[in-house]
Amino acid sequence: MLICPICKNQLIKNERVYVCANTHSFDISKYGHTNLLLSNQKNSKFPGDNKEMVMSRKKFLEKGYYNGISNTVNELLEEHLKFSEKEIQKKRLNILDIGCGEGYYTNNLKKYFSSKNIETDIIGIDISKEAIISASKSYKEIEWFVGSATNLPIESSSLNLILCMFSKIDSKENFRTLKTNGKLAIVSTGENHLVEMKETLYEKVKKDFYLPKDDPALSNFKHIQSMTCSYQVDIKEKESISNLFNMTPYRWRTPEDGIKRLYTLETLFTTVEVTIDIFEKI
Ligand SMILES: [Zn+2]
Repeated sequence: MLICPICKNQLIKNERVYVCANTHSFDISKYGHTNLLLSNQKNSKFPGDNKEMVMSRKKFLEKGYYNGISNTVNELLEEHLKFSEKEIQKKRLNILDIGCGEGYYTNNLKKYFSSKNIETDIIGIDISKEAIISASKSYKEIEWFVGSATNLPIESSSLNLILCMFSKIDSKENFRTLKTNGKLAIVSTGENHLVEMKETLYEKVKKDFYLPKDDPALSNFKHIQSMTCSYQVDIKEKESISNLFNMTPYRWRTPEDGIKRLYTLETLFTTVEVTIDIFEKI
C-alpha cells in the first residue's frame, strides 16, 4: 500500500527501515513512525503544528469534550462502509487519515471498527513531525508517517476510505489513492462552531465556514451525504479553555484584550458544531 515519495515504487518494510527498488530508504524511528516528507515539500523548517499546539490539543481531546464528534464520525463511516458478513470476513479495510494530528480521532476509529469486528489497516499521515511523534508514542496499532497530503506515499486505487478532519484537502491525490467506490469523508467546522468562545474573543464575530459539497475541486467525486453534528459543552477547567484556544487558528489572530477576556473565564459554555460530508469515487 505504501510507495516511495521520490520514485513511486513500492516501499517494503525491512526490519527498522522502509526501502524501495531504487534503494531510497526511510528509517523507522524509535517511536515507530517514519518520515516520508521530502525536504522540498516543506514550506518551512518545521511545517505543521508545533509541539505546544500538539500538546494543547492532546490534553483538550483527552478530556472528552469532542467525543461526540468522534462517535458521530465513526458511526457514519460504518454505515457507508457496510459490507455483507461474507465480504467482511475476507476484507480488511484500508483507511488513511490525512492530517491526523496526534491521532485521537484515528485511534477512536480503529477501536470502533475493532469493536464491530471489522478489520482495518489504518495509516495516519500529518505534515507535523511533533504530532506524529505524539501519535506514535500513544497508539501502537496504527502506522504513522510524516508526509504531505499533496504527495501521498500511498499506492493508487488502494484505499477504501480517506478521512480528512479539519485539514487541507488535495482532491487529486485523494482521487488517485481511493479504490472505485471508495469513500472520502471530510469533516469541517460548522457555522456555529465555538461561537460563544468567539464572542468572548472578538468584538464582532465573523462567520466563516467551508462547504465541501460546493467545492469545485471535489466535483470529480459523487457527493453522497452531508450531516451536521452539533451539541454544547460546559468546559469546567481553566486549563482546558486555554488548551482549546491554543488548538484553534484563533490563537494567531486574536487581539490581546480578547485573549485576556477568555483567560479570566472560570468556565466556558460553548457550541461544538461540525459538518461531515461523504463523497464517493465513481
Ligand atoms: Zn524510491
